[in-house]
Amino acid sequence: MKQFKIFVDGNWIDTEDKLEVLDKYSQEVYAEVAKADEQTVDKAISSASSAFEREKLSPAKRYQILHKASQLIAERKDELAMLITKEAGKPLKQARSEIDRSAETFLVAAEEAKRIHGEGVPVEAASGSENRLAFTIKVPVGVVGAISPFNFPLNLVAHKVAPALAAGNAVVLKPASKTPLSSLRLAQILDEAGLPKGLLQVVVGSGSTVGNQMMKDERIALYTFTGSAEIGLKLKQDTGLNRLILELGNNSPVIVDKEADIDLAAKTLAAHSFAFAGQVCISVQRIYVHDSIKDLFMEKLKEQISALKIGDPTDAETDVGPMISEDEAKRAEEWIQEAVDNGATIAHGGKRNGALLEPTVITDVTKDMRVVCEEVFAPIASVITYNDLESCIKEVNQSDYGLQGGIFTQNIDTAFYAAKRVEVGGFMINDGSQYRVDLMPYGGVKDSGNGKEGPKYSIEEMTEERLIVMNLKE
Ligand code: NAP
Repeated sequence: MKQFKIFVDGNWIDTEDKLEVLDKYSQEVYAEVAKADEQTVDKAISSASSAFEREKLSPAKRYQILHKASQLIAERKDELAMLITKEAGKPLKQARSEIDRSAETFLVAAEEAKRIHGEGVPVEAASGSENRLAFTIKVPVGVVGAISPFNFPLNLVAHKVAPALAAGNAVVLKPASKTPLSSLRLAQILDEAGLPKGLLQVVVGSGSTVGNQMMKDERIALYTFTGSAEIGLKLKQDTGLNRLILELGNNSPVIVDKEADIDLAAKTLAAHSFAFAGQVCISVQRIYVHDSIKDLFMEKLKEQISALKIGDPTDAETDVGPMISEDEAKRAEEWIQEAVDNGATIAHGGKRNGALLEPTVITDVTKDMRVVCEEVFAPIASVITYNDLESCIKEVNQSDYGLQGGIFTQNIDTAFYAAKRVEVGGFMINDGSQYRVDLMPYGGVKDSGNGKEGPKYSIEEMTEERLIVMNLKE
C-alpha cells in the first residue's frame, strides 16, 4: 500500500492518524495519507502567512516556477493519470486529458503572471483635482484558503493554486478526502519547480474538521471553494465578511432544436452526459428536444450510448467507470426509481452493479422530479420534449442553478435567441454544456456560485485593486 505524507511549512510530515484512500474500482485500500490535526493546520496557516510576508516573488520568477511546474506535469502524465484513475475511478483516457488540461492551466497562469496590471484613473477631470495624477495597481490578497472537490483532483486544484501563486499569494489547500493524492503529487512538483518553502501547504482531513478550522481562521484573506451548493451555502454563512469565491453545482440544460444537426447532437450529448459517470459539474442532465425530431434523436442517442465501453477505468478503452462510491451509485439508483414510481420511463440503462451505474436515459419526466430539478451528479440524463422555444426556455430557467448550458441548431437566430435568454454563466452553440477549456472564464449564476475561474479571471479575484494618487506641484 502506498504511503503519503502531507506538505506543511515546506516539509513532508507524517502523523499517527491516517486517512485511507480507496481504489474506486476494486474498493481496496490503495493508499494511506497522514491526516492533519488542529496544530498542524494552525502551523500550515502561520507558515503560509510568514512565507507571504517573506517571499516577494517577481512576476518573472512566478512565471518561471509555474512554467516549470507545467512542464513537469506534462512529463509525468502517465504516472499522474493512473493516480487519478485509482483515487477517483476516472477512466484513464479522461484522466489523461485531465493531465493535459492541468499542464495547460499552469502554463496559462504562468503567462498571466506577467500581465497583472492596473489602469490610469482620470481624477484630474474632477474639479479641484487638476494637479492630481492617479492609477491603480494590483496587489496580492495574502493567504488564499483553497478547498476542492473529488471530481477533478488535479485540474480543479490547479485552477486554484496556479492563479493564486501567479498573483503573488500563499496557499493553504485542503483537497477532497476521497481524492487527496494528486494534490500531494502537485506539491512535490511545485517544490521541484523551485517554489519557495511555505508558499503552498497541503493539509488533508475532513471538511468538518480541517475545512471548518480553515474557514474560521482570520489569517486567511480569501477562500476559494469548489463543491456542492449545500456546503457552499454553509461556508457563506460561516465566513461572514471574508471574501469567498464559490464554484458550485448545476443541472445543465441543452436544447436540441428542430433545425439541429441530429447526428452531432446525439454524439456530443452521449459523451457530455456520461463522461466520468456524469460526475462533472457541467454534465448534461436535462436534454430538451423538439417534438418533431424526438424519435430520430432518441434512436441516434441510444446508438451512441450503446457504443460506450463501461467498466474498469484502468482499461484505456473504457468510457464510463464507477461512481465515486457505491453509496453514491445507490443514491442515484434511488432517484431513478423515484422517477419511475412517479410515471417516468427508463429509455436506456438503469442497472447498477456496485459503484457502476449504467448510462441511463429517462423520458416522461416531470419538472419536480429530483433527476430533473436537483443536481443528479451521476450518469443519468432526462429527455424532455417541447414544441415552442419560448416556453422551453422558461422551463430551462426554472432551475436553482445556472452554470453552463447549450443549444444545437443550424438557425443562427434561434441560437442567439436562446443564448440571450438562458440564465447561465456560459452558453454553447452546437456543443454540449460540458465544453470547457482552461483559459476561458468559467463560473455560474444563481446557486451555481459567484466569481469566475480561468487563470486570468481568478487572478482578478485573488488580487486587490489599490488606488494611488499623486498630488503634483502646479
Ligand atoms: P462537497 O461534498 O461539497 O465537498 C467539496 C469540498 O468541501 C471537499 O474538500 C470537502 O471535504 C469540503 N467540505 C465539506 N464540508 C466542509 C465544511 N463544513 N467546511 C469546509 N469544507 C468542507 O463536493 P464533492 O462531492 O467533493 O464534489 C461534487 C460537487 O462539486 C458537485 O456539486 C459539483 O457540481 C461541484 N463542482 C463544481 C464545479 C464548478 O466549477 N462549479 C466543479 C467541480 C465540482 P471532504 O472531502 O473531506 O468532505
